Amino acid sequence: MTAVTDHLDILLDMLSALPDPVFVLTESGRYAALIGGQDRQHYHDGAHLVDFSLYDVLPKAKADWFLEQIKITLVQNQLRIVEYGLAGTDVNGLDTQQGPEGEIWFEGRIQPLSAPIKNERAVVWVACNITRRHQLEAKLQLLSETDELTGAYNRRKLLDALTLSLMHFRERQTPTAVVLMDIDYFKSINDRFGHVAGDEVLRGIAHHAMAHLREGDLFARFGGEEFALLLPNTSLVAAELITERLRLSIAAGDFLSGANLTVTVSMGLSLIQPQDQSIESILHRADDALYKAKRNGRNCFISAS
Ligand code: GH3
Ligand code: MG
Ligand code: MG
Repeated sequence: MTAVTDHLDILLDMLSALPDPVFVLTESGRYAALIGGQDRQHYHDGAHLVDFSLYDVLPKAKADWFLEQIKITLVQNQLRIVEYGLAGTDVNGLDTQQGPEGEIWFEGRIQPLSAPIKNERAVVWVACNITRRHQLEAKLQLLSETDELTGAYNRRKLLDALTLSLMHFRERQTPTAVVLMDIDYFKSINDRFGHVAGDEVLRGIAHHAMAHLREGDLFARFGGEEFALLLPNTSLVAAELITERLRLSIAAGDFLSGANLTVTVSMGLSLIQPQDQSIESILHRADDALYKAKRNGRNCFISAS
C-alpha cells in the first residue's frame, strides 16, 4: 500500500512538473482538472479554473468555440490538434501580473478520455504556447507575398488573389476588375537620372497607389515597372473612375525628390467575365488593353470591357 502511494506521489510530482498546462475538460464545458503549466514565462496560473465552466470564465464566443472543439473530439474519438489565440485578459480571474502579456497563440492537443469524469465524457486538452512560431509564420507569410523594393504585394500574391476572385465570381457573380499599369518611358528615367532614382520612382508610385486605394483593393508589383490592381466588388463604372483618378493623380504627383519630374502611366482594365475559365484570359484582356493604351499615345487607360 505504501509503495503504491509512493508511486502515486511521484507520478503526481512528475505530472505537475510538465511545462505545458494539461486541462481535463468535460463534455458540458467544465474544467475538471489542471495539471502542469507552472512555467510563468509562457503561461498564467489557471489553478482557480477547476470546477468552473468555460462560460464562467471566457467570453461567450470563445467558450462556444472551446465547447465545439471538445464535442467534435468526442464524436471523432481521436486526437485533434487546433490553433487558437487567447489573451490572459480574456480569462476571468487570472492573475495577469504573472505570465505573458497580450495575445498568446496556442496549439491545443485534444484527446478523448476513455473513462468518464463525474459521470461525463471528457477530454485532455494540452495547451502549448506557440506564439513565437506563430509570429515567425506570419512574418514569413508576409515576406513571401511582398515585393521587397516597393512594399506592395508581389506577383504571386496577386495571382493567388485573382484565382480566389475568379472562384467567388463563379459562385456569386460579384463584379471584379483587374487593372494592369505600366510606367511610360521608364527606361528613359533610368537613363537620365540613374537606376537608384528609378527605384525611388517605383517606390513612390507604389506608396501613392496603396494610400489611395480602398480597403480590400489589392495593389501588386507585377514585375519590373509594371503594377496590377485587383478591385473586388467593383462595377465597370466604378473601376473606370478609380483607374482614371489614379492615373491623373500619378501624372500630377512628384515621385523623385530633387528633380522636377513628371511620370505618367498607361493602364489596361478588364472585368472578370462569365466565360473566363482561367485567370490567364482575364490578364490577357487587361494586357491587350494596356498595349492599346501604349499605342494610343500613353498616359491613358483603355477598358477591355
Ligand atoms: P513604355 O512606355 O513602352 O513602357 O517604355 P518603357 O521604357 O517604360 O519600357 P521598357 O520595357 O523599354 O523599359 C522598362 C525599363 O524598366 C527597363 C528596366 O531597366 C526598368 N526596370 C525594371 N525593373 C526595374 C527596377 O527594379 N528598378 C529600376 N530602376 N528600373 C527597372
Ligand atoms: Mg514601361
Ligand atoms: Mg513594361
